[in-house]
Amino acid sequence: MKPLLIGGEWVTTSRGVENVNPSDTSDIIDLYAEAGLAEAEAAITAATDAAFEWGLSGPQQRHDILLAAGNEILARKAELGELLAREEGKVLPEAIGEVTRAGNIFLFFAGEALRLAGDILPSVRPGVSVEITREPVGVVGIIAPWNFPIAIPAWKIAPALCYGNTVVFKPAELVPGSAWALVDILHRAGVPPGVLNLVMGPGRVVGQAMLNDARVDAISFTGSQATGARVAEASLPFLRKVQLEMGGKNPLVVLDDADLDVAVHCALDGAFYSTGQRCTASSRIIVTERIHDQFVGRLADAVSTLRVGHALRNDTQIGPVVDATQLQQDMDYIDIARRQGGVLRAGGERITRDTDGYFLSPALITETGSDMRINREEVFGPVASVMRVRDYDAALQQANDTPFGLSAGICTTSLKYSNDFKRKCEAGMVMVNLPTAGVDYHVPFGGRKGSSYGAREQGRYAAEFYTIVKTSYTAA
Ligand code: NAD
Repeated sequence: MKPLLIGGEWVTTSRGVENVNPSDTSDIIDLYAEAGLAEAEAAITAATDAAFEWGLSGPQQRHDILLAAGNEILARKAELGELLAREEGKVLPEAIGEVTRAGNIFLFFAGEALRLAGDILPSVRPGVSVEITREPVGVVGIIAPWNFPIAIPAWKIAPALCYGNTVVFKPAELVPGSAWALVDILHRAGVPPGVLNLVMGPGRVVGQAMLNDARVDAISFTGSQATGARVAEASLPFLRKVQLEMGGKNPLVVLDDADLDVAVHCALDGAFYSTGQRCTASSRIIVTERIHDQFVGRLADAVSTLRVGHALRNDTQIGPVVDATQLQQDMDYIDIARRQGGVLRAGGERITRDTDGYFLSPALITETGSDMRINREEVFGPVASVMRVRDYDAALQQANDTPFGLSAGICTTSLKYSNDFKRKCEAGMVMVNLPTAGVDYHVPFGGRKGSSYGAREQGRYAAEFYTIVKTSYTAA
């Protein structure tokens, strides 16, 4: 059984939870110790006790740890990628890509540890100087979702440690394997006892214990809107810092003047790769009417030829859905869309393979409208809907007609429309002739409206959340 890490010690518990491969449910990857309330509180105590000293540690120590971790992740990317594909179900090249991203994030923040700067300003009062410095927040609770089992923990843990915070990390229940491997690497890279604590376990117990504890100074959460709202609500009485990255219902606009090959590729990749289980997936495809039928015909053909199967097989393009509950949710939404008037143009069927996995053929639903549930609620699976619109203005209006605002894309050869869309779409990230999913690791990530709350993640902007600004005045 893989243990928890609390106060620098590996700790087992009486209960081990199976990590099941969604491509083959007979494949049990390992058993992972499940934390309860006592272990969650012990982890928070350890992080609290370690916070003062780690907060005063120098940039060299933090740099060296982050660099060693990043290098080991990159050196082991094939093995860690296989573990990730096995536990989450994305295909091996995508899984190795995600591990590579995680490694690069650690290298980036190793550099940032050395570059943390402040400002010195003359005071408006003679004989006084002013220094503006950034300090650690303290104990940071990190609550992660299942769909990026190593990259999301990496983009939270790396900046947290870089800026001198201690961490209590709770991975998603479905993917303890990549989380454990990451923490093991950081532990061996020299993270001092108590600075990084790993507590696998249910959200309603371990996560909730973090929310309820006044010693947790900040929480960085990625997951669903419903849980995000709980995190915010529970944090308000403590006036605790929170950062929430939640769902998406990301539009991809395809205009009459689009390069059709580019547009079909963007839709196919953005909507269905990683089994559509990306918060940035293009789940609403908005197409102007002159190109609509031709585009939909091409896209439906391409969707039908996607090879669905075991995530570790060389010829697979789309892996399984992550578990039975998510599969049922995907099928339910396909049903709801059809009942509300949508036309299933491709896929949408539960399919069998020679292993027992949660396989669903990617679903393309056409003739949908903005008021239909399929266009308002996040499905989080290989399911995309198409809306037909008159022109660019109508497309922009539909793109923004959503409670979410994470990513938005446009396929066009017009500079005028691409510039206008960049300016007017209500999203945190905009893609021109690129899939809505697929982002760099060194620049800010996040959305607006119901998708995100609080400071941006990643890149230099991560410092906003993981540090507190202090202004010091000194008389000469
Ligand atoms: P989820 O909200 O069910 O769970 C997320 C995490 O919260 C898990 O670790 C879970 O155990 C924990 N949790 C659950 N209940 C809790 C509670 N009461 N207190 C504290 N923690 C609790 O989400 P999920 O199903 O794991 O992930 C899918 C969702 O994540 C989708 O909505 C997706 O869009 C979103 N997501 C968003 C981004 C982004 O950056 N915007 C990235 C990836 C995934």
